[in-house]
Amino acid sequence: MPKLISIVVPVYNEANNIVPFLTRIHEVFSCLDYDFKIIFCNDGSEDDTLYQIRRLAEVDECVDFISFSRNFGQQKAIRAGMEHATGDCVICMDGDLQHPPELIPQMIDKWEQGYDVVYTIRKENKEIGFLKNLTSKMFYKIMNYMSDLNLNYGEADFRLLSSRVAELINSFPEKNLYYRAIVKWVGFRQVGIEYFPDIRRSGKSKYNYRTMTILAIEGITSFSIKPLTFATYLGLLISTLSLLYIPYIVFSLYNNHPISGWASVIFSVALFGGLILFMLGIIGVYLGKMYMQQKGRPTYIVEETSLVWKKQLY
Ligand code: UDP
Ligand code: MG
Repeated sequence: MPKLISIVVPVYNEANNIVPFLTRIHEVFSCLDYDFKIIFCNDGSEDDTLYQIRRLAEVDECVDFISFSRNFGQQKAIRAGMEHATGDCVICMDGDLQHPPELIPQMIDKWEQGYDVVYTIRKENKEIGFLKNLTSKMFYKIMNYMSDLNLNYGEADFRLLSSRVAELINSFPEKNLYYRAIVKWVGFRQVGIEYFPDIRRSGKSKYNYRTMTILAIEGITSFSIKPLTFATYLGLLISTLSLLYIPYIVFSLYNNHPISGWASVIFSVALFGGLILFMLGIIGVYLGKMYMQQKGRPTYIVEETSLVWKKQLY
């Protein structure tokens, strides 16, 4: 019996992309000696996405879907798909056809050679502007420094995981998994392949600067506590520097020079007030994460899934 490849696809308002996506996947697999199963994870779409995937799941036995009760975010949608995937390996990819399905045979090839993780590196993105490119490069630099992970610039949520790595990651109790980094963190034999992304087939990107900043903070704080130690070092440095002020004060008093300095006092009060609030904010982010994690609420809520009725059917 051929091996089974599970394909996890998070979709949010991708109604016009679902059918072309499935067609391309069928085309690719028609030349391969593998079975495949797609799990569309509908992340609370407001358009016809759910209707489309439900219809396809009814007629195509290679298609399954999980539908959330609201928008929980792409990473949670990936998690849901991974938790329900049953294949010998799992491929994650976007549903807007920016991740070319034609790369799949190459990924499978690497997996068959014994790699547990095959990640992809985006070479050039025709869609993103100069500023988005710059900020995203900065994010990778900061992320790498903070987490010691060495993520490649252009690494996206398009990757293949062997079933043992997928199961391992599924067993993590963390609520806010950041897949790009967690996959690097687990280790095993990993290999990257490069690709040129296509332009989005239809609709527009769900990410703007606000959501990208949230994702960046999420990524960094869920991987490292370096920002906390940064506060300690900065505090130590400033306290040490402020000691240098003592000889100056003593010298001035000794020579009967009155020390005037309204401007410098206001400046330092404002500067250190700001710094203290900034550091408190950093601690707050971690505290908030602990608070949310200990509540123990589910990571996502499934409202409807074909996996239930298909189980009854077959
Ligand atoms: N997505 C999702 N939930 C969200 C945002 C996006 O499931 O809250 C899906 C989206 O449908 C797409 C993939 O995640 O399949 C990547 O999103 P998008 O194409 O908007 O991101 P970009 O390619 O611009 O980084
Ligand atoms: Mg996209």
